[in-house]
Amino acid sequence: MNLHRVAAKDPAAMTRDPRYDILFEPVKIGPVTAKNRFYQVPHCNGLGYRDPSAVARMRGIKGEGGWAVICTEQVEIHHTSEITPFIELRLWDDRDMPALTKMADAIHEHGALAGIELAYNGMNGANFYSREVPMGPSHLPIATFTYDPLQARAMDRQDIRNLRRWHKNAAIRAKKCGFDIIYVYAAHGFSILQHFLSRRFNHRSDEYGGSLENRMRLLREITEDTKDAVGDTAAVAIRIAMDELMGNEGIHKAEIEEVIGRMAETPDLWDLTLSDWSNDSRTSRFTEEAAEEPFVTGIKKLTTKPVVGVGRFTSPDLMVRQIRSGILDLIGAARPSIADPFIPKKIEEGRIDDIRECIGCNICVSGDLTMSPSRCTQNPAMGEEWRKGWHPEYIRPRESDGRILIVGAGPAGLEAARALGVRGYEVALAEATTELGGRVARECRLPGLSAWGRVRDYRAYQLQKMTNVEVFYDSTLTADQILEFGYDHVAIATGARWRRDGVAHAHLQPMPIAEGVEVLTPDDLMAGKRPAARDVTIFDDDHFYMGSILAELLVKDGYKVTLVTPSVEVANWTRNTMEQHKIQARLIELDVEIVTNHAVAVVTGGEMTLRCSYTGRESRRAAGAIVLVTARLPNDQLYLDLATRQTDWADAGIKTVTGIGDAWAPATIAIAVYAGRRFAEELDAPDIGDALPFRREIAELIAD
Ligand code: ADP
Ligand code: SF4
Repeated sequence: MNLHRVAAKDPAAMTRDPRYDILFEPVKIGPVTAKNRFYQVPHCNGLGYRDPSAVARMRGIKGEGGWAVICTEQVEIHHTSEITPFIELRLWDDRDMPALTKMADAIHEHGALAGIELAYNGMNGANFYSREVPMGPSHLPIATFTYDPLQARAMDRQDIRNLRRWHKNAAIRAKKCGFDIIYVYAAHGFSILQHFLSRRFNHRSDEYGGSLENRMRLLREITEDTKDAVGDTAAVAIRIAMDELMGNEGIHKAEIEEVIGRMAETPDLWDLTLSDWSNDSRTSRFTEEAAEEPFVTGIKKLTTKPVVGVGRFTSPDLMVRQIRSGILDLIGAARPSIADPFIPKKIEEGRIDDIRECIGCNICVSGDLTMSPSRCTQNPAMGEEWRKGWHPEYIRPRESDGRILIVGAGPAGLEAARALGVRGYEVALAEATTELGGRVARECRLPGLSAWGRVRDYRAYQLQKMTNVEVFYDSTLTADQILEFGYDHVAIATGARWRRDGVAHAHLQPMPIAEGVEVLTPDDLMAGKRPAARDVTIFDDDHFYMGSILAELLVKDGYKVTLVTPSVEVANWTRNTMEQHKIQARLIELDVEIVTNHAVAVVTGGEMTLRCSYTGRESRRAAGAIVLVTARLPNDQLYLDLATRQTDWADAGIKTVTGIGDAWAPATIAIAVYAGRRFAEELDAPDIGDALPFRREIAELIAD
């Protein structure tokens, strides 16, 4: 494919800042050597065994972006421990090897080392697909995200011997597939080896339970087995949970330091994490970059082997500090490598400002948890590398002299302008206000969301470098003006507004609200308006982040806040970004009164009626002001005005008018960015009619 580079500068003319030289030193990992210190740790992506070529291509692109080590997600080693419905990789037998070989080959293409995270989930797998009885250290309910009604059986000595053999066979297969680093996985609450280590799960009285030496016996045996099997040519890594953030009851740093001290030189690499996954991949709302530092500091003193750790690292200076201060040897990254698979290359080429920084929103995680290909808010090419041929850095050159007008500079409009600008089109971006970013500019001023401004900042900087993209501020365009301008293609990216009538899930028709009741929407609060009444009820029928963030905002401003939700819990959808329990805890700590399982049914002056989601029973309570966090309506008037004047388009020279992003259908920021990119990718592309717009792989049929 003939692709354009995104950066307008000539990379050959740029050099790396010597401050960052240390990041490009090679690191020996047992029998293999990483060419630099950039290490993509294992991460899920919702592609896995269902989309093997797609996941291979996604990993391969990171090789192109300069990562020295690129790992798989967790790979189930045996059918007796599988985590249906989640879609990871499998190495159950030889038939899984071609898919993994394809991935290792893709990773090797640009000189990276391929790592594979072998996983036996034990108590974390319900085995809904294989119907095998799950196993663990003790007779206990399985520990999944849901309260599944089955238990793991305590393993006997034969089970343990079997597990050791399965792991060894998986390691041998992985090596044959071409992997250079073979993982022994004891992290995130997803691995049987962590369950054996944990006093909470391990109630055994034999040589695998009780003392720390006993609880770590299986970890030691499996690591030694793996070294014996493949250690002559492949490195063996241990990925271990440093802390479960539950005090002495859970796994904690002092205990794991003891484990690492006793096994210091056994593996070739230590990969340090927090447990569970929601603590390891915390969002920017709850933690800053490098938040894991206190948990990994000091580990390097216990071992001569290289140590890798994560921390949502996007700043090269912070990365250098991790190395220079002796905390880490390798800079681990999952989300930053998704948001920008080219971080190492950009640092190497002295293009720091071109880094597309992860915003810490965990939309990528929501892909895995909904068993769909992970999207990324910052990198719309994520998951589309193979099936649509999109690339995070390159895009094909323009195919006509068409001039493009984009109306609205929110996430959709900005991404469309950026990508079309890179393609070489002449682009005008018209924005009604005096700032770029649309909803992102507003939302990044809310408590905890400042990192979200990066969606705007990255794109604003790229646009500034392009001479073929012109930005017009303070320009609220009308249909008449657009018809006068006569651009070839027009994209309407005018965003959406929060509804003021309560329509969402609980109310499909406007809610009865009496005249004179003080009703506010998130738009009002973001614009700086505040309720006159000191008592505020937030009716959250949106179920994502907005309701809880506005509760925080209003508490900080001194209001007494009640949050009413028809759901069983606050911010229900944030289960998919692994924030739900953190959000609920924060609101409880802030003394927000939480009323679950109820919708606000009717609001009259001074009183509101709540309706129980289960029984429909109604109750009354005093009401001050009400904030409706419900649904949104597209700002599509401009689109509709133009659509009704389609007969005038030809005279004006207009060929197409397309609604994109929230103006088409309100959704997440990630979906708006994607819509912008899609508009840019599909402009001047051949009409494919009803054909499927992406490639897919279909399971091979076996003749009966
Ligand atoms: P999206 O998420 O789809 O990108 P946003 O709501 O974030 O949508 O952004 C929409 C942007 O469009 C806002 O910055 C808004 O000021 C701008 N806008 C809305 N109507 C017009 C218009 N008629 N002319 C120019 N800009 C507009
Ligand atoms: Fe980062 Fe959000 Fe992209 Fe995940 S989806 S990599 S958290 S920007």
